Amino acid sequence: MRQSQLFTKTSKEISKEETSFNAQALIRAGFIDKLGAGIYTFLPLGLRVLSKITNIIKEEMNSLGGQEVLMPALTPKSVWETTDRWDNFDALFKLVGSDSREYALGATHEEVSTPLAQKFCNSYKNLPFSIYQIQTKFRNEKRAKAGLMRGREFLMKDLYSFHTSQEDLDNYYQKAQKVYSDIYSKLGLGDATYMTYASGGAFSKYSHEFQTLSDAGEDLIYICDKCKIAINKEIIEEQDVCPECSSKELREAKAIEVGNIFKLGTRFSKAFNFNYLDKDGLSKEVVMGAYGIGISRLMATIVEVYNDDKGIIWPLNVAPFAVHLISFNQNEEAEKIYKELNNVGFEVLFDDRDSLSLGQKLNDADLIGCPYRLIVSQKNIESEQVEFKKRSESDIEMIKREDLINHLKNYVK
Ligand code: ATP
Ligand code: MG
Repeated sequence: MRQSQLFTKTSKEISKEETSFNAQALIRAGFIDKLGAGIYTFLPLGLRVLSKITNIIKEEMNSLGGQEVLMPALTPKSVWETTDRWDNFDALFKLVGSDSREYALGATHEEVSTPLAQKFCNSYKNLPFSIYQIQTKFRNEKRAKAGLMRGREFLMKDLYSFHTSQEDLDNYYQKAQKVYSDIYSKLGLGDATYMTYASGGAFSKYSHEFQTLSDAGEDLIYICDKCKIAINKEIIEEQDVCPECSSKELREAKAIEVGNIFKLGTRFSKAFNFNYLDKDGLSKEVVMGAYGIGISRLMATIVEVYNDDKGIIWPLNVAPFAVHLISFNQNEEAEKIYKELNNVGFEVLFDDRDSLSLGQKLNDADLIGCPYRLIVSQKNIESEQVEFKKRSESDIEMIKREDLINHLKNYVK
């Protein structure tokens, strides 16, 4: 993409009321725009990152056997009354339709996914299966000051699984744990993310949160370094030893909840009378699990983890572009390189803008944070070289023009 064509620009000044680092960095670099507290537009660069995170998650959900659907965001009051959550779900956005009936904007989708699954399933032969969606959720959050970390409107992946028995749910749940760990690793958050024990409700002793260490986190977790797992704050009050090795040596740390998985048991199937006939023709309650990931919160988390005083440093897998190609008054030669790199399939942001100093271009490149930067200048052309630098390091390398593509291939798959 040519930067001269990008309708957004980087900005130096941002509103003082935007106090969170992730929102400041993303707004300055032109990834998002704020419309109101907890309400943001994803601009072209930001949407590229969001889509990359989404695609990684989709691949992994498909590998778990999840079938993708898109459920409505507008939900009638009746389904929330069925589960007794109309008055009990925190932060539900409620509204009245022109038919004078009440509705809620979807904050989570057990109330939609359960009766949906019920329509297509009445026998053990139809089970198990799982459905998921990537969807905008709405929550009337009281504190919406943490940028993308706590939106009033935000993107979530939610998967719901349906089983004949607790054992079948347990098996699936274990697979989901592994898949979740794989997702955070692919997003560059593997080392900083801990599977965290949380209290489980009526149907299991524990549920699990996935918590990424960060000083910007709103949660406190208690890490067992031996088992590489953690316990959340509520559970440490109930149980102050590691659930895996019983060690008392737990380290407190701030963290961001980037996902969670939950054995729902029959909580929702009971409410909707969602039963199936087993092999002997007996009617039984369907057993369910729910599995969430905060996609836009993950984007904020990556920014909180990967940055320096100059801006964002995107991990390659989620970077808006792998390469930022900067022309310093040498558009003709840079244009050739841009075309070559595109032909090979590299994703390139090409700073072809006129009338900007090299300093301004380099500042923008640091703010935007693509992993690899190339500079084409008069001096480079004379020596038949291109300047190469990783965003995460300060060293500069001069690469022979003819070796450029092979050199990049070492880094960009
Ligand atoms: P929190 O305790 O942070 O409010 P939650 O327990 O309400 O989270 P869930 O209802 O389980 O979260 O939602 C699933 C995932 O969606 C969470 O793990 C989190 O990553 C993300 N999420 C929840 N609320 C928000 C929000 N307001 N903005 C962005 N992401 C969110
Ligand atoms: Mg919440």
